[in-house]
Amino acid sequence: MTKKQNIKDLSQEQLQEYLKNIDEPGFRTKQIWQWLWQKNVTNFEQMTNLSKKLRAQLEKDFVMEPVQIHSYQQSLADGTIKYTFRLSQGHLIEGVLIPSRRSERVTACISTQVGCPLGCKFCATGTMGLKRNLKAYEIYDHLWLLNEESKRHFGRKLTNVVVMGMGEPLLNLDNVLRALDIVMSEQGLAMSPQRITMSTVGIIKELYRLADMAPKFNLAVSLHSAIDDVRSQIMPVNNSNPLNELIDALKYFHKKTGKRITFEYLMLGGVNDNIKDARALAEFTRNFPSKINLIEYNETPQSIFRKSQPERVQEFINFLENRNIIVTFRRSKGSDIAAACGQLVKITEKNKQLFDIKHINQKK
Ligand code: SAH
Ligand code: SF4
Repeated sequence: MTKKQNIKDLSQEQLQEYLKNIDEPGFRTKQIWQWLWQKNVTNFEQMTNLSKKLRAQLEKDFVMEPVQIHSYQQSLADGTIKYTFRLSQGHLIEGVLIPSRRSERVTACISTQVGCPLGCKFCATGTMGLKRNLKAYEIYDHLWLLNEESKRHFGRKLTNVVVMGMGEPLLNLDNVLRALDIVMSEQGLAMSPQRITMSTVGIIKELYRLADMAPKFNLAVSLHSAIDDVRSQIMPVNNSNPLNELIDALKYFHKKTGKRITFEYLMLGGVNDNIKDARALAEFTRNFPSKINLIEYNETPQSIFRKSQPERVQEFINFLENRNIIVTFRRSKGSDIAAACGQLVKITEKNKQLFDIKHINQKK
């Protein structure tokens, strides 16, 4: 028996075509589309404005495989909530809700792959390897659920989205773009592209492809070093995507989109936090309008690195600011529940203890 198709794998045109073939009127497309994306129902029965007959027909022809919340933990330190979602074949992925203390902002951090194949040395997700790409609807659905959770916990909708959870978005670009299109559409979550940021290590070939589509959302590049040798050591992907090629691709991206590029730079003690590293970074970022986010390193269970000393961070910032470069320093949020970037990793029996919030709080 062949497996039935997931109805959310259909584009709006394909859905329309299907409905035409079963002699349903055109306006049904919009109705069903809204049930699927805006209301995100989990079975056909819930599509109450359709006839019983049509619901039965949909049930016969398609499946729905909803993403479900598996568990969550809230950080006592800053209110960040880390969620684990279960996909229909049992894989677990993670997403994070990050409330702001000072503003109305609530940011969701979402995943694009189960695991990641790129194995950056500082990143917990990298140790998992790639299990599989997320489908577009799986990316969308866990964001939709995070939006509901934001209303429930914080009394307001999401204001921002960062594609910075598990996985490398440029290695699953078509599905990521399809999901974001619906996130931005009126019939989805109607989010403004200015409030969406995709983070990538910079897969050159895909950067060109993305640039040609002139996306309206923001791009952040995980740089972490502007010196090839250093970057290759901590990010093996740099061997096949070296910095000179990255510069050309990003110049092209800027030309096509007119956008400023954000660079993320983890401060790793003794690895990339010297003045010579700051100088290389300053030179690198001169190639395009840019902004630098220095990030405090979250030590992961398997960490071989340490975070930079505060004095080192300050010297680094001073060096850049003296050259009129826009730089911010981002403290890790949710680090007590392993919700911070790079700590998103599958919870297994072996590392379960490390993810137990009670265990972590007792330690304090
Ligand atoms: N694969 C993409 C998006 C996911 S990672 C990328 O690498 O950009 C999101 C961000 O978290 C990246 O900037 C990554 O470098 C950073 N990160 C990874 N491990 C981290 C850690 N242990 N502490 C802080 N940030 C980390
Ligand atoms: Fe993958 Fe990003 Fe982690 Fe590198 S930092 S292993 S690219 S998720």
